[in-house]
Amino acid sequence: MDTTLFTKKSIIGVVIVEPALTPPISHTQTTFTKKTKIGTGKSKTKKRDIPEGLWTKCPTCETMIFDKELDENLKVCSKCGHHFPIGSRERIHSLVETCTFEEMDASMTSVDMLGFKGASTYKSKLEAYKKNTTLKDAVVTGLCKIGEHRAALGVMDFNFLGGSMGSVVGEKLTRLIERGTEKELPVIIISTSGGARMYEGMFSLMQMAKTSAALAYHARSHLPYISILTHPTTAGVMASYATLGDLILAEPGAMIGFAGPRVIKDTTQAELPPGFQTAEFLLDHGLIDAIVSRKEMKTQLIAYLNFLTAGKKIATA
Ligand SMILES: [Zn+2]
Repeated sequence: MDTTLFTKKSIIGVVIVEPALTPPISHTQTTFTKKTKIGTGKSKTKKRDIPEGLWTKCPTCETMIFDKELDENLKVCSKCGHHFPIGSRERIHSLVETCTFEEMDASMTSVDMLGFKGASTYKSKLEAYKKNTTLKDAVVTGLCKIGEHRAALGVMDFNFLGGSMGSVVGEKLTRLIERGTEKELPVIIISTSGGARMYEGMFSLMQMAKTSAALAYHARSHLPYISILTHPTTAGVMASYATLGDLILAEPGAMIGFAGPRVIKDTTQAELPPGFQTAEFLLDHGLIDAIVSRKEMKTQLIAYLNFLTAGKKIATA
């Protein structure tokens, strides 16, 4: 039995060490002498020399992937194509032209207006997530260039409080959409979210109406909005701006829905069809327009923007 330790990254970026199969042998435990196999002495030492946090196990094909390789491949398993979560900054980097991203409202932070106290306070949660993720909240917004197109881009980050939509997420996205309308730019929002932020109660629910209204004004100016759904996109976000796209794209295998499958199953008392709430299922049922892999996303976005802005180009020519 191997006692190598594998590290697991939690959503808040804290590295948790857990034993792969059996806990490490302590001196108090009974130990068995292992027969030495030819050539194992060297590899055993080598295994122990591997620093923690260098490998990630693919949950789909169970391959151990070298972290550096995973980063270079935009966090996509090169063997089976499983899409691992990716941070907002890395995603922006993978999509926009170098040095063209002008971030908006970078210093906007949430406040604990309800004085929320649970197992821990909202204030302490915000502090911890800010420290661990180096983000200020769950979305990064800004103007950028993708190919030849100027665009208003908002990218959510699941690492910050499960990508929950509080006042800051709603306000930053609303300002982004309004800037897009003002500058006559297409808006692109990449969502990943557990829904509205419970620590902000009604204030977070109000963001659904606010972002949707801003998008209505944007649409009234005949400007395109592309919504990209990534794993997972659920609840309040799904019920507002995420599903309002002129074009709705999704990453392969993404879990997309409003309520969780268990809640739906308990409420309806019906068996859910296989693949329920996956991007593939929703493509088949017409909710989303296309499934685009992360590595193809930039090329596809440029193609869609070419198409969606062609009429405007003709009009202004
Ligand atoms: Zn895999």
